[in-house]
Amino acid sequence: MSSGDFDLHATNSARLFERAGKVIPGGVNSPVRAFGSVGGTPRFIREASGYTLTDVDGNNYVDLVSSWGPMILGHAHPAVVEAVREAALGGLSFGAPTEGEIALAEEIVARVAPVQKVRLVNSGTEATMSAVRLARGFTGRTKIIKFSGCYHGHVDALLADAGSGLATFGLPTSPGVTGAQAEDTIVVRYNDLEAVAAAFAANPGAVACVITEAAAGNMGAVAPLPGFNEGLRRLTTEHGALLIMDEVMTGFRVSASGWYGIDNVAGDLYTFGKVMSGGLPAAAFGGRADIMGHLAPDGPVYQAGTLSGNPVAVAAGLANLRAADADVYAKLAKNATALGDLMSEALTAEGVVHRVQYAGTLVSVFFSENAVTNYDEAKAAQTWRFPAFFHALLSRGVYPPPSAFEAWFVSAALDDRAFSIIADAMPHAAKAAAAAVKS
Ligand SMILES: *Cc1c(COP(=O)(O)O)cnc(C)c1O
Repeated sequence: MSSGDFDLHATNSARLFERAGKVIPGGVNSPVRAFGSVGGTPRFIREASGYTLTDVDGNNYVDLVSSWGPMILGHAHPAVVEAVREAALGGLSFGAPTEGEIALAEEIVARVAPVQKVRLVNSGTEATMSAVRLARGFTGRTKIIKFSGCYHGHVDALLADAGSGLATFGLPTSPGVTGAQAEDTIVVRYNDLEAVAAAFAANPGAVACVITEAAAGNMGAVAPLPGFNEGLRRLTTEHGALLIMDEVMTGFRVSASGWYGIDNVAGDLYTFGKVMSGGLPAAAFGGRADIMGHLAPDGPVYQAGTLSGNPVAVAAGLANLRAADADVYAKLAKNATALGDLMSEALTAEGVVHRVQYAGTLVSVFFSENAVTNYDEAKAAQTWRFPAFFHALLSRGVYPPPSAFEAWFVSAALDDRAFSIIADAMPHAAKAAAAAVKS
């Protein structure tokens, strides 16, 4: 497919990928990992430390995916690893409450003012699924409004026109989602308040909630236009619907209190994952105490989990958040800008039409003349340049997200050495992008 992949049939990654394909669908446990839209062989990772991923062939990469967000401190951070080790020695799961769960909930509540109560779950998908159920249970309404290009996990009702892997593979939704599940979902254009107002007008008294990525990161980084989140707040309040801010990606990454720390627009419910998990399976949803009070056992809306609040995952998440101080957030901001500048300089030098966009410290590049504000514009970019750009970086020791529709995730561990590797690779990647031809 591209120059970076000429001899990979002989690698350990290639052998593992072939073996994996026999027992795991597509050889992977989450679709984008398969390199489907960029081609070539996914690298099987043996270990990681700081900003470096090491694959099973001994190749090192500067990691710009950070496990899709969680690893803001870099990999195997001593404080997180030690917290996990200590927790594991004390037992892996009890199915009974622990003090650590309170501490993690308190940390989240302290950081995000509109969140008064939190329930821990195991994945972002569970968090959004539960938040939507709670919104429906609380309001007694059925319809939900979501935005095209926003991804909220693989919840049936939320897969319509979603970003992330569905964008990567060009899927409008998924077989297996029934008409009834899809029917109650109204999909409108991101950053288009008139479309939201029209959806409310067309469904009087029927909309339970609007769910939005507080800043979109799953069609690439697309920040809300000024006034957009405020407008959602106003419209939902006017129509008696709840506003669910999905901060699974932005939460505790773009600021200490997530996107809320940037625009201060309060949602009724929030979903979190990624950074708050420290890299283990943990996520959360939370919000106004009166709404959260409708959850079982206080209220009638059922939600549960055998491993929810798992002591090892909680220890990892808490250690990750506690280590993420002002210095870490300053480094994330600096590193995001440095990465964006390197991309932009190299692409400009090669005359490649592009836009580097930010949503806080989320970065992405669109091969597009104009700023991208919604999913249609993201899809209209010259995404066919991306595979060549990607493989030129990968073959020179830089690991970007393997999709044109994903944000790039920096860590605070990136240092001058990491940036010199990126700076050396980027001009080659820009040349490859310039030379790419539309297939
Ligand atoms: C990653 C993500 C999810 C889903 O989280 P999982 O842990 O992968 O289920 C939901 N919403 C947003 C905004 C995300 O980025």
